[in-house]
Amino acid sequence: MGLIETSQGRDMAPLATDPLTLGEIVENGLCIGCGLCRSIAGAGRVDMVMTPEGRERPVVRRALDKSTLAKINAVCPGTRIAGPPPAQMNDAALTDTVWGPVERLVLGSAADPTVRFIGSGGGTLTALGQFLLSSGRVKFVLHAAASRSMPMRTERKLSFDAASVLEGAGSRYGPAATLVDFNDILDRGEPFALIAKPCDVTAVRNLARLDRRVDEHMRYALAFVCGGASDLTKSEQVLQRFGLREDELSLFRYRGHGNPGPNRIETKDGRAFEISYRQLWEDEDKWMIQPRCKICPDAIGQVADIAVSDSWLNGGPAVEDEALNGIIVRTKRGLELFDAAVEAGVLQIKRESGVAEVGELQSHQVRKRRAVWARLTGMAIAGKPVPLVTDLALHDCALQNSLAENLVEGRGARDRARRGRLGEPPAVPRATILGDL
Ligand SMILES: Cc1cc2nc3c(=O)[nH]c(=O)nc-3n(C[C@H](O)[C@H](O)[C@H](O)COP(=O)(O)OP(=O)(O)OC[C@H]3O[C@@H](n4cnc5c(N)ncnc54)[C@H](O)[C@@H]3O)c2cc1C
Ligand code: SF4
Ligand code: SF4
Repeated sequence: MGLIETSQGRDMAPLATDPLTLGEIVENGLCIGCGLCRSIAGAGRVDMVMTPEGRERPVVRRALDKSTLAKINAVCPGTRIAGPPPAQMNDAALTDTVWGPVERLVLGSAADPTVRFIGSGGGTLTALGQFLLSSGRVKFVLHAAASRSMPMRTERKLSFDAASVLEGAGSRYGPAATLVDFNDILDRGEPFALIAKPCDVTAVRNLARLDRRVDEHMRYALAFVCGGASDLTKSEQVLQRFGLREDELSLFRYRGHGNPGPNRIETKDGRAFEISYRQLWEDEDKWMIQPRCKICPDAIGQVADIAVSDSWLNGGPAVEDEALNGIIVRTKRGLELFDAAVEAGVLQIKRESGVAEVGELQSHQVRKRRAVWARLTGMAIAGKPVPLVTDLALHDCALQNSLAENLVEGRGARDRARRGRLGEPPAVPRATILGDL
């Protein structure tokens, strides 16, 4: 498995014909732990486990036949990453090599001050989720939120009312298997919206090609612009700072309650601890971003109806900033929703923006879009499987780099891949390891 798109959108260099096993997907660093394979294979055959590295990964309990594996390879966002359909690109008000299709791009936020405060940036996604319900467009929203029993962990959440959508507001940087029971959600046969990471949206768009229920029932897919999901061990380091154990926690909030707001921890016995967003992320060597994120061809939600980003106009989250988002409306459906939400007074627009400004505010995303083609090529040269990527203009993005920059990216990825540094250990559940000690 593994094809890379050319600048013309064609594919090249197939590396293998057999579908990858789940073990191969994981061990080659392609899995992001979305859970869709578990949903497709069924609970008794694949389990999602928390690994010692702090990643949610699939483990096969009963052997998967080749056709199930082929289906998983066709939908897994580690093996198949498709961009927006060419017709959408042609019809869009604007298309940009790096930023993809854009119907409208504004700076804005939730109009409701509570949502704006509690939300991760400006509460735009939460406000849209609430509006989708109140306007009767969908019956429920599928998103992610802190687990009630283990609040440092993240679980998929189904919200049927505005209060529940608000409960899920905020960024969950650790592992989140949003699609772990996606098949059951489709079985409900009710209209719903997905709010999730770009790779989650990629996965369900992949599934839509095989299962018509996705397009029938999933009316909207909204994403946030994503710099990468961290390992749970990143969050555990915060606990170590304060000498806390996970079972003592009643709250673990990464951010929100301000923009960005503090990383706040509360314990069942009433103690509270905070570090700033800057303290949480001050040392890039300790970000513990999952391997799949480093080669992410679409962390900017090109296949979502609307993608929402941070917008720190003061140059970064050094201090608390105005509650604000970049709102990238990508599809006609997204535009209808956005216009209706503004009309209903649910979203407020600060001003129009554009790809030049969002590129400045999100310069790390621009760098990654330009680097991924060379990184994937380097991995392929090292003989590693890479995802089949189509319609994401990766080669054109790479052409915005100099040859020297591409060589550095490509050789670096090749060498790291050869040393096994882009891969992961086989997935085993933590408890087994701990129990063995
Ligand atoms: C892992 C991660 C990396 C990010 N990296 C960037 C970045 O590089 N640049 C940038 O501009 N913004 C990034 N963000 C997004 C940013 O933090 C805000 O979430 C985004 O700007 C939307 O803000 P909001 O106020 O509209 O969100 P909110 O109104 O608070 O809504 C956020 C929604 O996202 C859902 N959600 C949160 N975490 C997850 C998750 N892990 N999986 C699935 N759904 C989830 C919540 O359920 C909620 O519905 C990242 C977020 C995450 C979780
Ligand atoms: S990325 Fe999702 S579908 Fe692919 S192997 Fe990981 S959990 Fe399964
Ligand atoms: S960087 Fe890409 S793979 Fe990683 S969590 Fe974000 S969208 Fe998913």
